[in-house]
Amino acid sequence: MITNYESEVFGRNYWSYSLEAPLHIPSLSLPSSADVVIVGAGITGLFAGMLLSRKGLNVICLDAGTIAGLASSTNGGILTLGYKQSSGDLVKRLGIEVTVDLYRMALQSYDLVERTIAEEKIECNFSSKGHVELASKLTHYSAMQENAEFIEKHINHRYEHICKSDVSQYIGSTKYHGATLDRQAKSMHPLKFMHGVALAARRYGVHLHEHVEVKRIHRLSGKYTLETSKGIITAPNIILATNAYLGDLFPWLQQRTVAVGSQIIATKKLSSSLCKSLMEESFTASDTLRMLSYFRLSPDGKRLLFGGRRPLMAFSPQRQFMTTYRSMLETYPQLKGVSIDYAWSGNVCMTRDHMPLIGQIDGLYFAIGYNGGGMGLGAFLGTKVAESLLGHKDELPYLRDRIVKRFPAYLGRHGTKLIGYAYYRLIDIFA
Ligand SMILES: Cc1cc2nc3c(=O)[nH]c(=O)nc-3n(C[C@H](O)[C@H](O)[C@H](O)COP(=O)(O)OP(=O)(O)OC[C@H]3O[C@@H](n4cnc5c(N)ncnc54)[C@H](O)[C@@H]3O)c2cc1C
Repeated sequence: MITNYESEVFGRNYWSYSLEAPLHIPSLSLPSSADVVIVGAGITGLFAGMLLSRKGLNVICLDAGTIAGLASSTNGGILTLGYKQSSGDLVKRLGIEVTVDLYRMALQSYDLVERTIAEEKIECNFSSKGHVELASKLTHYSAMQENAEFIEKHINHRYEHICKSDVSQYIGSTKYHGATLDRQAKSMHPLKFMHGVALAARRYGVHLHEHVEVKRIHRLSGKYTLETSKGIITAPNIILATNAYLGDLFPWLQQRTVAVGSQIIATKKLSSSLCKSLMEESFTASDTLRMLSYFRLSPDGKRLLFGGRRPLMAFSPQRQFMTTYRSMLETYPQLKGVSIDYAWSGNVCMTRDHMPLIGQIDGLYFAIGYNGGGMGLGAFLGTKVAESLLGHKDELPYLRDRIVKRFPAYLGRHGTKLIGYAYYRLIDIFA
């Protein structure tokens, strides 16, 4: 049991509680037109908006909630290079050239985030100590090693290989079958980072409007009309940057994505000796399952933050978070009985081939579906979708031109979610 069951723990987000000052976005009346309307003010929407505004376009970025209030600011704050599929599987499916391009893209997304933090002077506990990827099964360890060798060979990005008996020197756990360490992976306080990005977007001229939900989109005489909760806006171009929160705004994308819940718990403050026994400060870690666990210490080095996929069937918040608490104890039995101060959740957006969707249909642009790894890719593909709206040369032909399959049976939002969960659970059990 989570020992300090108090209802106020559930839904309480550590990042918000560790923030010095909230972000203030002045409430302005909604304009009736713009060159581009961006739906969704997370990392994708704000990076797209920054570029378009800097190029002189009149950009409105709307969010149904608060600016950067959902996944982009409540996530684990971990930036890693990996895709869900191994490089071997990617090469079999896409060929060597495309696979190398995809890894280059992930590496460029690291650089983009790092450069933005430096240029915009964003204080967000940014660290590049390293990420440990932990093999959940013996077979995963050999696949990880092949992956690391492929990346080293083709894009010259180095990994350290850690055998089973040495894993506990990095992560104080004996659960895993080996690991790789990427010393260039990054971590941050995601909410501080997103506040910095939102302020930068505003400085560049993006009109930010929170609590404005786009209810319907129509196309008439070459222009889009957006019916929002605060009035009508028209624009020749739209960018959908809603990721897992798309709803039924654009059925073509809805049928090709599934929202899967992910949740994080944060322990109470731990003694420094206990913290030291868990992992090196500023390291981050994740395992190799599709329904993966990921964890790190808080930036002040005093709490463990442990994340994992949300179970589909759990009827009380306490039961839901028990799954993550149990996973934490499987990794760190020494935390038995330690109480939890924060527990929160959000949605990640999965696609069938585990690759993001970027493209446009009649001036409606989109970049979504980061399969749980959008902190780098969201920034990068937000920028790329803006470049493509500006008419730049296509640098991502594979991502744009591939045939994107629907989920096998589209059974409405909950039915599809159920199939998605069952599918990933089966892969974790048998692969
Ligand atoms: C618990 C959790 C942990 C994660 N950990 C990591 C991690 O450690 N590293 C990593 O790389 N990734 C992580 N991710 C994934 C990452 O957070 C996302 O991939 C990324 O934030 C997606 O950014 P986005 O801007 O595309 O979408 P979001 O940040 O989700 O923003 C989409 C916005 O669209 C708005 N919206 C939707 N529909 C409408 C509408 N009709 N009208 C107006 N606005 C609308 C929503 O309100 C929302 O604010 C995690 C995700 C979760 C949930």
